[in-house]
Amino acid sequence: MPTYVTSPSGYQKMQIVENTVVQFHYALADASGEIENSRKHEPVLYLHGQPGLIDGLVEALEGHQAGDRFTVELHADKAYGPRKDNAVQKVQVKHLQGAKKWRPGMVAMIQTDDGPRQVTIVKVGLSQAEVDSNHPLAGKDLTFDIEILSVREATPEELAHGHAHGAGGHHH
Ligand code: ZN
Repeated sequence: MPTYVTSPSGYQKMQIVENTVVQFHYALADASGEIENSRKHEPVLYLHGQPGLIDGLVEALEGHQAGDRFTVELHADKAYGPRKDNAVQKVQVKHLQGAKKWRPGMVAMIQTDDGPRQVTIVKVGLSQAEVDSNHPLAGKDLTFDIEILSVREATPEELAHGHAHGAGGHHH
């Protein structure tokens, strides 16, 4: 059951618990500065309790409510994990998704047995490329500035699908 708390002004706000749909903005930074800011596109919409966000962020969001602004500092282990050595592998250029021409440093998607995965181009030839399968944010300590925009109960349809519907969420 969702939990409500009474705010100082007297009206009730829903807290982030399992099976609530949460909309939030974030700015993501590492030691060298800002990496991403959702205000440049649209806020994130997600169903709390379903996989998708990194664990450290899910833990930090738990219990917050609309209007909350806070900072979450995540050590690499709680974010995208440590960087692995020997993570460079060869793939066919035709299997790289996301651009027509590739240069070292660009991030591509490839399909793996475990689903889609982001890789970073190390070297690219005519038919083969070397890619680093570490997540681009692996090994980095990250800081998220979070602003919770809304928290609501998930609809039965969203619970059945396992994801949130609406702007920033899934569209069918
Ligand atoms: Zn759906």
